[in-house]
Amino acid sequence: MSDQATTGRRDRRRYTPKPEIVSLLKVSGNPVNGLGEKDIRRPSPHFWHPPDLHPWGELQLVARTNSRKCPGSAEAFAAAYERRELLPVATQRNAAPAAELSAAATQFALAHEADDVGIAAMDPLYVFEGYRIDEPWVIVLALAHDYERLKQVPSDETNGAGVCDVGDQYARGTRASYALANWIRSQGYNAHPYPGPSADALLLIPPAIASGLGELGKHGSIISRHFGSGVRLAAVTTDMPLTPTGPDRFGADDFCQTCQICTRECPPGAIVEQKQMVRGVERWYVDFDKCIPYFAEAASCGICIAVCPWTRPRVRPKLLATMARRLDQATSHPGASELSAPALES
Ligand code: SF4
Ligand code: SF4
Repeated sequence: MSDQATTGRRDRRRYTPKPEIVSLLKVSGNPVNGLGEKDIRRPSPHFWHPPDLHPWGELQLVARTNSRKCPGSAEAFAAAYERRELLPVATQRNAAPAAELSAAATQFALAHEADDVGIAAMDPLYVFEGYRIDEPWVIVLALAHDYERLKQVPSDETNGAGVCDVGDQYARGTRASYALANWIRSQGYNAHPYPGPSADALLLIPPAIASGLGELGKHGSIISRHFGSGVRLAAVTTDMPLTPTGPDRFGADDFCQTCQICTRECPPGAIVEQKQMVRGVERWYVDFDKCIPYFAEAASCGICIAVCPWTRPRVRPKLLATMARRLDQATSHPGASELSAPALES
Protein backbone atom coordinates (compact mmCIF):
# COMPACT_ATOMS: atom_id res chain seq x y z
CA MET A 1 0.00 0.00 0.00
CA SER A 2 1.36 3.45 -0.80
CA ASP A 3 2.11 6.07 1.88
CA GLN A 4 -0.62 8.19 0.33
CA ALA A 5 -3.23 5.48 0.71
CA THR A 6 -2.65 5.14 4.44
CA THR A 7 -2.99 8.78 5.41
CA GLY A 8 -6.71 8.81 6.25
CA ARG A 9 -6.87 12.60 5.87
CA ARG A 10 -10.09 14.54 5.88
CA ASP A 11 -12.09 15.23 2.77
CA ARG A 12 -10.07 17.37 0.37
CA ARG A 13 -12.93 18.91 -1.57
CA ARG A 14 -12.41 22.57 -2.17
CA TYR A 15 -12.89 24.57 0.94
CA THR A 16 -14.97 27.71 1.41
CA PRO A 17 -14.01 29.66 4.52
CA LYS A 18 -16.70 30.33 7.10
CA PRO A 19 -17.98 33.96 7.03
CA GLU A 20 -16.90 34.46 10.66
CA ILE A 21 -13.36 33.47 9.69
CA VAL A 22 -13.34 35.72 6.62
CA SER A 23 -14.46 38.64 8.79
CA LEU A 24 -11.32 38.19 10.91
CA LEU A 25 -9.01 38.55 7.92
CA LYS A 26 -9.47 42.34 8.18
CA VAL A 27 -6.83 43.24 5.55
CA SER A 28 -5.11 41.27 2.81
CA GLY A 29 -1.76 39.79 3.85
CA ASN A 30 -0.36 39.75 0.31
CA PRO A 31 0.65 43.45 0.12
CA VAL A 32 2.11 43.13 3.64
CA ASN A 33 4.23 40.25 2.35
CA GLY A 34 5.33 42.43 -0.59
CA LEU A 35 3.57 40.53 -3.40
CA GLY A 36 4.14 42.34 -6.69
CA GLU A 37 6.77 44.71 -5.27
CA LYS A 38 9.82 45.09 -7.51
CA ASP A 39 12.12 46.67 -4.94
CA ILE A 40 14.08 44.63 -2.46
CA ARG A 41 13.14 45.43 1.13
CA ARG A 42 13.12 43.86 4.57
CA PRO A 43 10.07 41.74 5.47
CA SER A 44 7.21 43.24 7.48
CA PRO A 45 6.02 41.56 10.69
CA HIS A 46 3.34 38.98 9.88
CA PHE A 47 0.76 36.56 11.27
CA TRP A 48 3.03 34.81 13.82
CA HIS A 49 4.38 38.03 15.35
CA PRO A 50 2.82 39.45 18.53
CA PRO A 51 -0.72 40.65 17.70
CA ASP A 52 0.10 44.32 18.35
CA LEU A 53 2.30 44.24 15.21
CA HIS A 54 -0.37 43.17 12.68
CA PRO A 55 -4.14 43.20 12.12
CA TRP A 56 -4.75 39.42 12.40
CA GLY A 57 -4.57 38.94 16.16
CA GLU A 58 -8.08 37.45 16.46
CA LEU A 59 -7.40 35.05 13.60
CA GLN A 60 -4.14 34.02 15.25
CA LEU A 61 -6.12 33.24 18.40
CA VAL A 62 -8.57 31.08 16.41
CA ALA A 63 -5.63 29.21 14.87
CA ARG A 64 -4.06 28.55 18.27
CA THR A 65 -7.38 27.55 19.85
CA ASN A 66 -8.23 25.09 17.07
CA SER A 67 -4.75 23.62 17.16
CA ARG A 68 -4.86 23.13 20.92
CA LYS A 69 -8.21 21.25 20.71
CA CYS A 70 -6.36 18.28 19.19
CA PRO A 71 -5.35 15.61 21.69
CA GLY A 72 -1.81 16.17 22.98
CA SER A 73 -1.29 19.44 21.10
CA ALA A 74 -1.48 21.80 24.10
CA GLU A 75 1.33 19.91 25.85
CA ALA A 76 3.44 19.71 22.68
CA PHE A 77 3.25 23.47 22.05
CA ALA A 78 3.71 24.31 25.75
CA ALA A 79 7.09 22.56 25.47
CA ALA A 80 7.87 24.55 22.30
CA TYR A 81 7.30 27.81 24.18
CA GLU A 82 9.31 26.79 27.25
CA ARG A 83 12.11 29.35 27.12
CA ARG A 84 15.36 28.62 29.00
CA GLU A 85 17.65 30.94 30.87
CA LEU A 86 20.50 32.43 28.84
CA LEU A 87 23.89 32.18 30.56
CA PRO A 88 26.15 35.22 30.90
CA VAL A 89 28.85 35.45 28.22
CA ALA A 90 32.13 34.01 29.57
CA THR A 91 34.89 36.57 30.02
CA GLN A 92 37.52 34.36 28.36
CA ARG A 93 37.15 33.76 24.63
CA ASN A 94 37.89 30.55 22.77
CA ALA A 95 40.38 31.94 20.22
CA ALA A 96 40.32 28.93 17.86
CA PRO A 97 40.10 29.69 14.11
CA ALA A 98 36.64 30.19 12.54
CA ALA A 99 36.69 26.79 10.79
CA GLU A 100 37.35 25.02 14.09
CA LEU A 101 34.66 26.99 15.93
CA SER A 102 32.19 26.26 13.12
CA ALA A 103 32.89 22.53 13.32
CA ALA A 104 32.58 22.58 17.13
CA ALA A 105 29.29 24.54 17.04
CA THR A 106 27.88 22.20 14.38
CA GLN A 107 28.92 19.12 16.33
CA PHE A 108 27.39 20.56 19.51
CA ALA A 109 24.08 21.29 17.77
CA LEU A 110 23.92 17.82 16.20
CA ALA A 111 24.54 16.29 19.63
CA HIS A 112 21.73 18.43 21.11
CA GLU A 113 18.72 17.47 18.97
CA ALA A 114 19.42 19.34 15.70
CA ASP A 115 19.15 17.05 12.66
CA ASP A 116 21.05 19.32 10.29
CA VAL A 117 23.00 22.58 10.66
CA GLY A 118 23.85 25.42 8.28
CA ILE A 119 25.83 28.63 8.78
CA ALA A 120 25.18 31.88 6.89
CA ALA A 121 26.54 35.41 7.11
CA MET A 122 23.86 37.72 8.48
CA ASP A 123 22.01 39.77 5.86
CA PRO A 124 19.85 42.78 6.86
CA LEU A 125 17.13 41.26 4.63
CA TYR A 126 16.82 38.39 7.12
CA VAL A 127 15.65 40.84 9.81
CA PHE A 128 12.02 41.97 10.09
CA GLU A 129 11.26 45.69 9.93
CA GLY A 130 11.20 47.20 13.40
CA TYR A 131 13.74 44.70 14.75
CA ARG A 132 17.50 44.76 15.01
CA ILE A 133 20.14 42.02 15.11
CA ASP A 134 23.78 43.00 15.60
CA GLU A 135 25.46 39.57 15.37
CA PRO A 136 27.15 38.89 12.00
CA TRP A 137 26.41 35.15 11.80
CA VAL A 138 23.33 32.97 11.86
CA ILE A 139 23.44 29.25 12.60
CA VAL A 140 20.28 27.55 11.34
CA LEU A 141 19.07 24.27 12.84
CA ALA A 142 16.81 21.80 11.02
CA LEU A 143 14.47 19.56 13.01
CA ALA A 144 13.04 16.65 11.04
CA HIS A 145 9.42 15.56 11.30
CA ASP A 146 8.35 11.99 11.97
CA TYR A 147 6.74 11.19 8.62
CA GLU A 148 4.37 8.57 10.05
CA ARG A 149 2.87 11.24 12.33
CA LEU A 150 3.11 14.16 9.91
CA LYS A 151 1.19 12.35 7.18
CA GLN A 152 -1.89 12.24 9.44
CA VAL A 153 -2.53 16.01 9.04
CA PRO A 154 -4.80 17.89 9.11
CA SER A 155 -5.40 17.17 12.77
CA ASP A 156 -8.71 17.46 14.58
CA GLU A 157 -10.32 16.57 17.92
CA THR A 158 -10.08 12.85 17.09
CA ASN A 159 -6.48 12.68 15.87
CA GLY A 160 -3.75 15.09 16.97
CA ALA A 161 -0.75 13.11 15.69
CA GLY A 162 0.19 15.53 12.90
CA VAL A 163 -0.08 18.80 14.81
CA CYS A 164 1.59 17.22 17.86
CA ASP A 165 4.57 16.35 15.69
CA VAL A 166 4.72 20.02 14.63
CA GLY A 167 4.75 21.05 18.31
CA ASP A 168 7.32 18.38 19.16
CA GLN A 169 9.73 19.54 16.44
CA TYR A 170 9.40 23.16 17.52
CA ALA A 171 10.08 22.02 21.11
CA ARG A 172 13.25 20.28 19.92
CA GLY A 173 14.20 23.49 18.09
CA THR A 174 13.66 25.51 21.27
CA ARG A 175 15.83 23.18 23.34
CA ALA A 176 18.51 22.90 20.63
CA SER A 177 18.76 26.64 19.97
CA TYR A 178 18.94 27.56 23.67
CA ALA A 179 21.53 24.85 24.31
CA LEU A 180 23.66 26.06 21.38
CA ALA A 181 23.34 29.73 22.38
CA ASN A 182 24.47 28.86 25.91
CA TRP A 183 27.39 26.77 24.62
CA ILE A 184 28.53 29.71 22.44
CA ARG A 185 28.20 32.04 25.43
CA SER A 186 30.35 29.66 27.46
CA GLN A 187 33.02 30.11 24.76
CA GLY A 188 33.06 33.88 25.32
CA TYR A 189 30.82 35.06 22.44
CA ASN A 190 27.39 36.62 22.32
CA ALA A 191 24.53 34.44 21.06
CA HIS A 192 20.73 34.66 20.85
CA PRO A 193 18.32 31.80 20.10
CA TYR A 194 15.44 32.18 17.61
CA PRO A 195 13.13 29.16 17.94
CA GLY A 196 9.67 28.85 16.38
CA PRO A 197 6.77 28.70 16.14
CA SER A 198 6.24 32.40 16.96
CA ALA A 199 8.17 34.83 14.82
CA ASP A 200 10.74 37.18 16.30
CA ALA A 201 13.42 39.38 14.70
CA LEU A 202 14.81 36.77 12.33
CA LEU A 203 13.28 35.33 9.14
CA LEU A 204 14.34 31.67 9.16
CA ILE A 205 13.84 30.28 5.64
CA PRO A 206 16.21 32.62 3.69
CA PRO A 207 19.26 31.94 5.90
CA ALA A 208 18.34 28.24 5.90
CA ILE A 209 18.47 28.25 2.09
CA ALA A 210 21.65 30.35 1.98
CA SER A 211 23.33 27.92 4.38
CA GLY A 212 22.43 24.82 2.37
CA LEU A 213 19.64 23.33 4.47
CA GLY A 214 17.40 23.11 1.43
CA GLU A 215 15.63 24.85 -1.45
CA LEU A 216 12.38 26.83 -1.42
CA GLY A 217 9.42 24.72 -2.54
CA LYS A 218 6.32 25.82 -4.41
CA HIS A 219 4.41 25.47 -1.11
CA GLY A 220 6.54 28.27 0.40
CA SER A 221 8.39 25.96 2.80
CA ILE A 222 11.93 24.64 2.66
CA ILE A 223 12.66 21.27 1.01
CA SER A 224 15.66 19.47 2.50
CA ARG A 225 17.57 16.77 0.65
CA HIS A 226 17.54 14.75 3.91
CA PHE A 227 13.98 15.29 5.18
CA GLY A 228 12.02 16.71 2.24
CA SER A 229 9.41 19.25 3.31
CA GLY A 230 9.00 17.58 6.71
CA VAL A 231 11.31 19.91 8.54
CA ARG A 232 11.08 22.80 11.03
CA LEU A 233 13.68 25.46 11.69
CA ALA A 234 15.27 27.30 14.60
CA ALA A 235 18.37 29.53 14.66
CA VAL A 236 21.06 31.15 16.76
CA THR A 237 22.71 34.46 15.90
CA THR A 238 26.22 35.08 17.16
CA ASP A 239 29.41 37.11 16.93
CA MET A 240 31.54 33.95 17.21
CA PRO A 241 33.79 33.89 14.11
CA LEU A 242 32.41 31.24 11.76
CA THR A 243 32.72 29.99 8.18
CA PRO A 244 29.59 29.82 6.01
CA THR A 245 28.21 26.63 4.52
CA GLY A 246 27.04 27.24 0.95
CA PRO A 247 23.62 26.72 -0.66
CA ASP A 248 22.63 23.22 -1.77
CA ARG A 249 21.00 22.86 -5.19
CA PHE A 250 19.79 19.29 -5.60
CA GLY A 251 16.83 19.82 -7.93
CA ALA A 252 13.88 20.64 -5.65
CA ASP A 253 13.22 24.02 -7.27
CA ASP A 254 13.49 22.46 -10.74
CA PHE A 255 11.14 19.65 -9.72
CA CYS A 256 8.54 22.15 -8.45
CA GLN A 257 8.39 23.77 -11.91
CA THR A 258 6.20 20.92 -13.15
CA CYS A 259 5.01 19.07 -10.05
CA GLN A 260 1.47 20.04 -9.03
CA ILE A 261 0.85 17.78 -6.05
CA CYS A 262 0.65 20.48 -3.38
CA THR A 263 -1.27 22.88 -5.61
CA ARG A 264 -3.90 20.18 -6.17
CA GLU A 265 -4.04 19.00 -2.56
CA CYS A 266 -4.25 22.41 -0.86
CA PRO A 267 -7.97 22.67 0.08
CA PRO A 268 -8.27 26.46 -0.40
CA GLY A 269 -6.10 26.47 -3.56
CA ALA A 270 -3.60 28.85 -1.96
CA ILE A 271 -0.40 27.64 -3.63
CA VAL A 272 0.36 29.79 -6.66
CA GLU A 273 1.42 27.78 -9.75
CA GLN A 274 4.03 30.20 -11.05
CA LYS A 275 6.74 32.15 -9.28
CA GLN A 276 5.77 35.68 -8.28
CA MET A 277 7.68 38.91 -7.70
CA VAL A 278 7.91 39.33 -3.92
CA ARG A 279 9.94 42.21 -2.46
CA GLY A 280 12.18 42.32 -5.51
CA VAL A 281 12.76 38.58 -5.89
CA GLU A 282 10.94 36.17 -8.20
CA ARG A 283 10.01 33.16 -6.09
CA TRP A 284 7.34 30.65 -5.13
CA TYR A 285 4.46 32.21 -3.24
CA VAL A 286 1.48 31.08 -1.16
CA ASP A 287 -1.59 33.32 -1.19
CA PHE A 288 -1.87 34.43 2.44
CA ASP A 289 -5.56 35.30 2.21
CA LYS A 290 -6.47 31.82 0.95
CA CYS A 291 -4.12 29.78 3.17
CA ILE A 292 -4.63 31.41 6.55
CA PRO A 293 -8.42 30.88 6.98
CA TYR A 294 -8.04 27.16 6.27
CA PHE A 295 -4.85 26.98 8.35
CA ALA A 296 -6.73 28.54 11.27
CA GLU A 297 -9.72 26.23 10.97
CA ALA A 298 -7.78 23.02 10.31
CA ALA A 299 -5.43 22.93 13.31
CA SER A 300 -2.42 24.40 11.47
CA CYS A 301 -3.08 22.32 8.32
CA GLY A 302 0.33 21.08 7.08
CA ILE A 303 -1.12 19.17 4.11
CA CYS A 304 1.26 20.76 1.58
CA ILE A 305 4.40 19.59 3.40
CA ALA A 306 2.98 16.14 4.14
CA VAL A 307 1.96 15.38 0.53
CA CYS A 308 5.16 16.72 -1.04
CA PRO A 309 6.88 13.72 -2.64
CA TRP A 310 10.25 14.82 -1.24
CA THR A 311 8.81 14.21 2.26
CA ARG A 312 8.07 10.55 1.55
CA PRO A 313 11.05 8.55 2.82
CA ARG A 314 10.77 5.84 0.15
CA VAL A 315 10.42 8.32 -2.70
CA ARG A 316 13.08 10.89 -1.70
CA PRO A 317 16.19 8.83 -2.65
CA LYS A 318 14.75 8.17 -6.12
CA LEU A 319 13.98 11.85 -6.64
CA LEU A 320 17.48 12.81 -5.50
CA ALA A 321 19.05 10.37 -7.94
CA THR A 322 16.83 11.41 -10.84
CA MET A 323 17.30 15.12 -10.27
CA ALA A 324 21.08 14.70 -9.83
CA ARG A 325 21.21 13.06 -13.29
CA ARG A 326 19.09 15.82 -14.81
CA LEU A 327 21.07 18.63 -13.19
CA ASP A 328 24.25 16.96 -14.41
CA GLN A 329 22.88 16.73 -17.96
CA ALA A 330 21.71 20.33 -17.84
CA THR A 331 25.20 21.43 -16.76
CA SER A 332 27.01 19.31 -19.37
CA HIS A 333 24.59 20.13 -22.21
CA PRO A 334 22.95 23.48 -21.47
CA GLY A 335 19.61 23.76 -23.27
CA ALA A 336 19.54 20.07 -24.21
CA SER A 337 17.64 18.83 -21.17
CA GLU A 338 14.25 19.98 -19.99
CA LEU A 339 14.17 19.74 -16.17
CA SER A 340 10.76 18.39 -15.35
CA ALA A 341 9.21 16.28 -12.64
CA PRO A 342 9.84 12.57 -13.22
CA ALA A 343 6.99 10.09 -12.86
CA LEU A 344 6.45 9.18 -9.22
CA GLU A 345 6.20 5.78 -7.65
CA SER A 346 5.62 5.08 -4.01
S1 SF4 B 1 -0.81 25.09 4.94
FE1 SF4 B 1 -2.68 24.11 4.10
S2 SF4 B 1 -3.90 25.82 3.35
FE2 SF4 B 1 -1.82 26.62 3.62
S3 SF4 B 1 -0.80 26.34 1.61
FE3 SF4 B 1 -0.38 24.48 2.81
S4 SF4 B 1 -2.03 23.03 2.22
FE4 SF4 B 1 -2.68 25.08 1.63
S1 SF4 C 1 4.46 18.97 -3.79
FE1 SF4 C 1 5.58 19.20 -5.70
S2 SF4 C 1 5.31 21.35 -6.30
FE2 SF4 C 1 4.74 21.17 -4.15
S3 SF4 C 1 6.61 21.71 -3.04
FE3 SF4 C 1 6.59 19.48 -3.22
S4 SF4 C 1 7.75 19.06 -5.12
FE4 SF4 C 1 7.23 21.24 -5.13
